[in-house]
Amino acid sequence: MLELARKRNELLATKTVKNLERRGFGACYCATTAEAVQKALSLLPEGSTVAWGGSASIRDSGLTAAVHAGNYTVIDRDLARDASERFELHRQGLLSDCYLMSTNALSEDGILVNIDGTGNRLAALCFGPRQVVMLVGMNKVAKSLEDAISRARTVAAPVNAMRFTNTPCTTDGSCHNCMAEHCICNQLLLTRNCRPAGRIQVILVGEELGF
Ligand code: SF4
Repeated sequence: MLELARKRNELLATKTVKNLERRGFGACYCATTAEAVQKALSLLPEGSTVAWGGSASIRDSGLTAAVHAGNYTVIDRDLARDASERFELHRQGLLSDCYLMSTNALSEDGILVNIDGTGNRLAALCFGPRQVVMLVGMNKVAKSLEDAISRARTVAAPVNAMRFTNTPCTTDGSCHNCMAEHCICNQLLLTRNCRPAGRIQVILVGEELGF
């Protein structure tokens, strides 16, 4: 059964990579997380400034640790001593050479869907860093744009909320479409195309990664 799941991921990734490339994204598929981390590192020029948002995928994959160990200037907001310093690191990340993140969801036809509370991650995705490199588990690929938005809002967002805050979804795992003070769903970004072409590199991973 695992072999069939792997085959399905490969087939779907082939289709999704083509659709991403048609929209100007750089895209590729790696069967394992370890391969994906090596691919991501190969896209980061030595000596460049690297930043990231609060992505579980890039942390759990080992990518952020590998960047810390490499020859890069790192902007790591998780090392901030207080909220004020964290805010400044978020701002500095917008001028980094390379920004690492995942996506909350992705449609089979290649549209990225992302939700943010403060918007720093979405800002970096839109403009600022010279390059954005994404690690995206195949578990985040949804059939349609509507399915991708639904995944981002009803699966990714409640889990993210449990990491950072105390909103209605953290009590029952279901989105309440809230307007709570600490709502993490304040911005919803659809990235239809990548311009300039190749600025956003999407590395699809044939293993469960992130949520
Ligand atoms: S309840 Fe609020 S914070 Fe939780 S997923 Fe829904 S909109 Fe986002």
